Amino acid sequence: MQASGEPSFRESVDLMFNRAAKLMDLSPGLEQKIRVCNSTYTVRFGVRLRGKIETFTGYRSVHSEHMEPVKGGIRFALSVNQDEVEALAALMTYKCALVETPFGGSKGGLCIDPRQWDEHELEQITRRFAYELIKRDLIHPAQNVPAPDMGTGEREMAWIADQYMRMNTTDINGKACVTGKPPHAGGIQGRVEATGRGVQFALREFFRHPEDVAKAALTGDLDGKRVIVQGLGNVGYHAAKFLSEEDGCKVIAVIERDGALVDPNGLDIEDVRQWMTAHGGLLAGYPNATLVADGAAVLEEPCDILIPAALEGVIHKGNADRIKAPLIIEAANGPITFGADEILRRKGVVIIPDMYANAGGVTVSYFEWVKNLSHIRFGRMQRRAEEARSRLLVEELERLSSDQHLGWTLSPDFKEKFLTGSDELALVRSGLDDTMRTAYQSMREVWHSRKDVEDLRVAAYIVSISRVAQTYRSKGL
Ligand code: NAD
Repeated sequence: MQASGEPSFRESVDLMFNRAAKLMDLSPGLEQKIRVCNSTYTVRFGVRLRGKIETFTGYRSVHSEHMEPVKGGIRFALSVNQDEVEALAALMTYKCALVETPFGGSKGGLCIDPRQWDEHELEQITRRFAYELIKRDLIHPAQNVPAPDMGTGEREMAWIADQYMRMNTTDINGKACVTGKPPHAGGIQGRVEATGRGVQFALREFFRHPEDVAKAALTGDLDGKRVIVQGLGNVGYHAAKFLSEEDGCKVIAVIERDGALVDPNGLDIEDVRQWMTAHGGLLAGYPNATLVADGAAVLEEPCDILIPAALEGVIHKGNADRIKAPLIIEAANGPITFGADEILRRKGVVIIPDMYANAGGVTVSYFEWVKNLSHIRFGRMQRRAEEARSRLLVEELERLSSDQHLGWTLSPDFKEKFLTGSDELALVRSGLDDTMRTAYQSMREVWHSRKDVEDLRVAAYIVSISRVAQTYRSKGL
């Protein structure tokens, strides 16, 4: 329990797990085995920087090895601690089970403010941290495969992959030791956008079910829905961009570290992001919207969909009662504490839980890992064959129309789309869409078919825990 009277992040995850486990028929031994975190490695290492030795603390937690490799991001933030890393590792176990990626759960973190160091220094620190993990097989294509998380991205993943390759020069599958790499360094198209894209696909699937939409006291589809997003980093930016540019949502506020930008007519997300990039990640001074200094208070503004996409614990017992959004999609991990979850449920708020909502990242990471192991880009063999078959059909239709004087013409737009074979990006998006739809349906079935399941989070846990339990049982545990 923390000073705020709320459980810690890890305790919060365990309490949510317990709510679901209570409704399941698991032996107490198996239940405990699934809940606990298998191991957490803590490392303190020194790097000579700016003329002196700086000591850094990092963690790699393995929550469950019911499937290997285990998978989970590496976070760079000053707030990183063992409790947080273990909570995030547990969420990875349940997330991977829910979206059927064949991994156990893991997570890593380094206590560092990446903005304090220049690129060369960050590379030294990242490589040294990776070295410590690699030599203990805590980064390994068959055992433990990290990915980006808060404060890390493609650049850090490329350094980690290169470090692994330097230490394992004959490992032909070495590139699969980490995902989220840039495409030119063994990555896959669509990984950077994947988590935000997954949030979009999750919302689209939710809005395909009017019964579920009604539970959130909403109607219709995404068009015109008012959205508030917290965190315009990798996940928040892509989710906000796609929802506003492709689904007709109005992003009426964006909350960042230095305040919130508000515009009831909808913000131009690309424009805001460009401003942030040019001004050191700050919103202050942005000319086309109003800046509200108390960003956290904007979480409480009326909207249709609230998307916390920054960090954990932002909706807590202290503000849950004042949240007005009828639908919250947890793009970040653990943005709602256990206590707040209870308050929001009582108010009838529908929460699309983190383990599902942000699973787009691990899903596309899975595709990248498979690509690395198969050593070939997706679509390379089929794309032109697909185009040739489509062309055959179009030419035959045009011949029939002309021979029979039917006067049919295919529109140029249709022809272009039909004659374009799927490249890697199209295949990745299709695989992600399928994953998000299927996983939603598995949660939804439990939510609707059982009277004792009142929310999507418990439904998600039930689906995940049953799958993990099944794997353990089939191993003879
Ligand atoms: P990021 O570092 O790219 O972005 C985080 C953003 O949140 C930054 O713009 C930062 O300025 C902002 N922020 C930090 N503290 C804030 C505060 N107090 N109020 C408002 N904004 C704040 O990180 P990310 O990769 O987008 O991750 C965000 C969340 O999504 C995390 O919870 C992470 O675990 C989760 N997640 C990320 C991925 C991924 O693929 N990157 C996958 C699954 C889950």
